[in-house]
Formats: sequence, C-alpha cells, structure tokens
Amino acid sequence: MTSRGFRSTPIGMNLARFPRRRYTPGPTPLEPMARLSAHLGGSVELWIKRDDLLGLAGGGNKTRKLEFFVADALAQGADTLVTCGAPQSNHCRLTLAAAVAEGLKCRLVIEERVPGSYAADASGNNLLFNLMGIERVTVVPGGSDLGAAMAAEVADLAAGGRRGYAIAGGGSVPLGTLGYVACAEELLAQSFDQGVAFDHLMVASGSAGTHAGLVVGLESANAELPVTGINVRRPQAEQEGNVHKLAVATAAFAGVPAIRRDRITCLDRWVGPGYSLPTPGMIAAVRLLASTEGVLLDPVYTGKAMAGLIDLVREGYFATGSRVVFVHTGGSPALFAYRDVLAAQ
Ligand SMILES: *Cc1c(COP(=O)(O)O)cnc(C)c1O
Repeated sequence: MTSRGFRSTPIGMNLARFPRRRYTPGPTPLEPMARLSAHLGGSVELWIKRDDLLGLAGGGNKTRKLEFFVADALAQGADTLVTCGAPQSNHCRLTLAAAVAEGLKCRLVIEERVPGSYAADASGNNLLFNLMGIERVTVVPGGSDLGAAMAAEVADLAAGGRRGYAIAGGGSVPLGTLGYVACAEELLAQSFDQGVAFDHLMVASGSAGTHAGLVVGLESANAELPVTGINVRRPQAEQEGNVHKLAVATAAFAGVPAIRRDRITCLDRWVGPGYSLPTPGMIAAVRLLASTEGVLLDPVYTGKAMAGLIDLVREGYFATGSRVVFVHTGGSPALFAYRDVLAAQ
C-alpha cells in the first residue's frame, strides 16, 4: 500500500472566518457530459461544474469573488462599487448586478483593449449595463493605468461626500480568490457525495484568480488533483508566474501552506490572435457544446478553454479512462456580441 492512502483526512480551510454575502442559493451542479464524451470517442469521461449557473445577472465565476468583496465593501460603509474591465467584461456586469442587489451604485472603467471595441449602444453587456442602471462608464485606451483610473473615480465620489470601494480587474486579489477556494471545497464535497473521483481539472486562466483559488483550495484539502489552465491572453511562462504569485499570496492571506510552482500549469496554444479575438477552435467548441449538451459557452474564455480540452482529449493528454472535470466559468451573455462569427453560414 502506498503512503498516499494514508494521507490525513481532507480538512480544507476555515473560510467561515471571512465575511461573505451569498448570491447563489446552493452548490452549482456537477454533471457528466455523456454526449460530448461519446462524440470525442469515449476514451475520457468528461464532467462539467456549472459555475455558469451562479447567481446575479448572467452569473459566472465573478459571482463567487464578489461574495467576499461586497461583504468587505458593506463592512467599510461603501455606497458605490467601482471596477474595471474590457467592454464585454463579465466582472463588470456582475459587479453592477451585485451593486443593484445590495442597493449600492456602480461606476465602471472600461478598457478598450481592442481599439474601437466599446459602443454604448452595442448588444451583450452594454445593453445590460443600461438595463441595470449603471451610474457612469469611463472608457480608457488599452494599456492605461486602470488602478489610477479607479482611484480617480473613488476620489471623485469622496469629493461629493460618497464612499467608493474599488475592486481590482477580474477580482483577482487574495480576497476575491477565496471565492475559488470555496469552489474547490464545494467540488470536493460533491465529488464525495456523488461518488465520482476526478483525475484532472480544466479551467480557463485569465486574470488568474479562478485558477489560483482552485489550486489553493485543492492543495489545502490534500486533494492531489492536477489542474490545467487554458490561457486566454498571455504566454505560458508569464501566466504560470501570475497564477503562482497569486496562489502564494492567497495561501498566505488564508493562513495555509504555500503552493509549489510545479502545481501550476497553463497552456497557451488556444489564445489565437489575442484576447477576446475569435479562433476557429473557439467557434467549433461553442457550437459543439451547444449542440451536444445544450450548454452555452462564451467566446472569450470558456470557448477557448473548451477548444483546448477537446484537442487535449484527441491528442491523448489524459490517460484512457480518465475522469476530467471542466469548470464552466460562465460568460454566455457575450455570445450575442459575437453573433456574426458564431452563427452557421
Ligand atoms: C473572468 C473570466 C474567466 C477567467 O477567470 P480569471 O479569474 O480572471 O482567471 C473565465 N471565464 C469567464 C467567463 C470570465 O468572465
């Protein structure tokens, strides 16, 4: 018998010490994708963790991060949430939704990473910003100092006797990353409850909080589950460095042992021409998940991550008979802003 069988019982982390709002009534579903698995030849059993079904307006991974940020903002007496992101940012849309749900105001700094990509009357997010009553959108060019732009909003609010609470882009600082430590704990509990052990976890890797939080949560529970991130923007070495740095900071923040560098794997073959720009693999993956499983992916993150997963299955990256879980981080409202590239010709 190997020493592995005698590992101490998973204890996880005591997250209850951190104030949290709740925007989802219970765990998100953990489901097999039998039709997709069969379509890909049946050598790997694919599962999905439906974090696209989290609460708030068109929920996704940012909802879990916001549960911790908004609790902190309320404790500090804030009346306005301030954050930043790209035009179709799920983080911006969900921050606005959380503000509305809590009776707070919201201001957004939108970074035009692709020049000319912001249009106030566009579909997708812009319509939703309008419906939910955004207080102010400030558009800045790609590469701007977003922290400074958010600080300017907070200063402007202070000048008017108000109190703003700035949330980092993507919510990827240790406090928000706790949301994905919580997701790892939820997934392990479901895996035990449903009697399914996983061999591998796959996730889109962007501003790094989701990937880092999952690794910290799994490690602190001694889960020994390999995690592969699929990059949506950065080259492999840079992204692995970012995820590792945030994982180490989050572990320190939460008081659990540091994360080894070799626990972080990020693959960059599916980024294509750049962040948010369509690729043939993304289009094929979005169409395949919709038509085999009735699951809506998104064009910027999960479409590319699923394109990676599909190729990895075909290339034999996973041993035959492996059970692989894909964390669906949400984002489907952006599909409508990509109608022209996604619809069948
Ligand atoms: C933000 C986002 C991601 C990436 O998560 P990070 O924590 O930024 O790495 C993945 N999928 C969707 C839909 C997102 O909105």
